[in-house]
Amino acid sequence: MDYAVRVSHYLDPVTFELSRDVILLLSQGHVAEVIVGGEVSGGLSGLAAQTLDLGDAVCLPGFVNAHAHLDLSHLHRQVPRGLAFTDWARAIIAGRQVPAPIIDAGIDDACRMAAATGTTAIIDISVGGLSAEAIARHGLRGVVALEVLQWDAAQAEAQMRAADEVVRRKFRLETDRLGADAGGATAPAALAGVDFGYSPHAPYTTGRELYQLAYGRAYGEGRVMTTHVSETPAELDFVRTATGPIADLMRQFGAWPGFAGHGTTPIELLLGDWLAPWLGESGPRLVLVHCNYPAGNDLDLVAAIKPTICWCPRSHAYFGHEPWPLHEYFETGANLVLGTDSLASNDGLDMWGEMQAAVQAQPDAPRTELLRMATINGRAIFDAADNVADLAIWELPADTGLEQMLNLWLGKPPRLLASFSQGQLVARAI
Ligand SMILES: [Zn+2]
Repeated sequence: MDYAVRVSHYLDPVTFELSRDVILLLSQGHVAEVIVGGEVSGGLSGLAAQTLDLGDAVCLPGFVNAHAHLDLSHLHRQVPRGLAFTDWARAIIAGRQVPAPIIDAGIDDACRMAAATGTTAIIDISVGGLSAEAIARHGLRGVVALEVLQWDAAQAEAQMRAADEVVRRKFRLETDRLGADAGGATAPAALAGVDFGYSPHAPYTTGRELYQLAYGRAYGEGRVMTTHVSETPAELDFVRTATGPIADLMRQFGAWPGFAGHGTTPIELLLGDWLAPWLGESGPRLVLVHCNYPAGNDLDLVAAIKPTICWCPRSHAYFGHEPWPLHEYFETGANLVLGTDSLASNDGLDMWGEMQAAVQAQPDAPRTELLRMATINGRAIFDAADNVADLAIWELPADTGLEQMLNLWLGKPPRLLASFSQGQLVARAI
């Protein structure tokens, strides 16, 4: 055994039942055994190579941040609050024009913030795959979803080739598969626990051909595909009739697609048309981010297909959106998760902060469901087994039931005592 860990409370990741006086035995990245109730003769040291006796503490599944843009972390507190989405987008485009070391330092800080607050896995949107090494270096599990963005059908294959080039530079897994074509002399070191996926940006910037190339590839290779969709009322106007502030933004950047609108909602455009050839079996690896403004048949389509739907509560509040349709999405049976979005529209990357914002926006939100959204629902995207040792161990607020514990924590987030990602210790309080 690699680790023996003693905690006073352990939350079963499947049943969400709390057990007391628990010793966890971790081996090869998994929870090999859960010993419930009482002492073990000879103490912990006879059980594993390394031991952690944490006493009054609760072990929860590690947090999964299902939507981040780590390469915008250098813009933390640099973008004024209260900007309209399109003005914010202009600020972000300008804010990316900084030297690479500044962006790299921001990514490194962001990974440290995530690990220090109990996040054990992260889905990061990235054009150049810049975060891959940093996520691995901090011991976190990750999917780096390579962003592609292009209206023009003729450019769609070039976008995918650019993503392939990033894969060749960053990911050992793919260099193995591509053999000599990958250029073995420059093959990067293996990135344990970090893989890539694809992320067509949004249906207001990216055309059908590129969505289909990216999703066809992701589907064929069993990878995550994630995309922003139905984020703003402006997006709905633009996708339906090619009007409004997004049309103005497109003209400003010379990216006008020259179309009259698709005559449908963004969600229906994707689920009912562009991605339809693959849907039905897509499961949680299709991650639709925001989905703030479902309209028309959108909720029926979501209920039929049951993708993952990601809410970013603090970023949502930053932009002043209408209340997120939490209860409507519960009804659909989709896999609901939480994300932080970037530090350009959020003040932190800790998932307790997201749960606090969720409760602030929707006081009747069921606390235990929010915890599932922040933890094991995200784990499903990674296709990680139930017994994977992605764990976060927290100071015990009071010896009560889970719901009461969560209420206390949502008033004052707890102190992280230790966390494990893939069975490796990635954070530990002194
Ligand atoms: Zn985003």
